[in-house]
Amino acid sequence: MTDVFQLPGFVDAHCHAFQRALRGRTEGADFWAWRDAMLELARGQSPTQVRHDYVTVYSELRHAGYTAVGEFHYLGLDEAFAAVDAAAEAGVEIVLLHVAYARGGIERFRQASVAAYLDELERLRARGARVGVAPHSVRACPRDWLEQLGRYAAEHELPLHVHADEQPREIEECLAEHGMRPIELLAEAGCLGPHTTVVHATHADGRELDLLSQARARVCACPTTEANLGDGFLPVERLLHRGIGICIGSDSNVRIDPLEELRELDGIARRQSGRRDVFTIDALLSIGSDEGGAALGLESWPEIAVDASHPQLRGVEEPLCALVHGCSADVVAVD
Ligand SMILES: [Zn+2]
Repeated sequence: MTDVFQLPGFVDAHCHAFQRALRGRTEGADFWAWRDAMLELARGQSPTQVRHDYVTVYSELRHAGYTAVGEFHYLGLDEAFAAVDAAAEAGVEIVLLHVAYARGGIERFRQASVAAYLDELERLRARGARVGVAPHSVRACPRDWLEQLGRYAAEHELPLHVHADEQPREIEECLAEHGMRPIELLAEAGCLGPHTTVVHATHADGRELDLLSQARARVCACPTTEANLGDGFLPVERLLHRGIGICIGSDSNVRIDPLEELRELDGIARRQSGRRDVFTIDALLSIGSDEGGAALGLESWPEIAVDASHPQLRGVEEPLCALVHGCSADVVAVD
């Protein structure tokens, strides 16, 4: 191929690969009904199935231009090893964001104690897997778990990723249990710092955003999934005003296309502001790549080649602008 240009690979900072199988299932009233279907799917997973199916999903990621993935994994330790092996086969850098799950969900998600969870994490590390500490959410982890996990992540300088503020109900439940909102609880429990990534933050209020900014924590936006599940809009400008870093995730994998995630993010910003200059093109590309790498604690990951002769790009004056604002991932040259 002659007419190509190189770019840093995109980084998928939040992925649940098994949920790819739900992409055609649009029945269900809301997020919580979708969650029931997701739990049924999760219940039946096995290491063999994960090893097989994740190669397919990670290959799709690779072909779409993602060369690194943070797999937010709550299906068990043997399945975690299978995910790591699947990523190696597909040629994608993986950081296994091994999930701590104390309560709710289904039985296979849960560890008996923080010590049992950390034992699993140490076993992954001992086998050479890159890992992050991932309390699932303030729904799934009580305060004492959050405190211990925050301490461990800080001591070991590991990424800490956690879902927060995706749905209003989660915030109401947190207020009822703790008298504070999810990101306030994460701050109190010592879970916010420069290695922290809060996934979604869709309904974060001003004080919660201030806490993220003060801690230099990031937000992982997953716009195609957040749209599909009816989560809401990320308050993009309010994050930017506070200098909060943003990265992207394919999350439920209803779509696998980093350009579409970035375009959705920019579209939200334009609709909310009535302006076209909220993000520069360099800022969007950095969100798609460097910010994700930093969120996962990666120093390097493979580049990609873009086919400038593809009909979606041929003859345009500003290829990078056309890439983000007008192309699908089909323009990524597959090696
Ligand atoms: Zn998620």
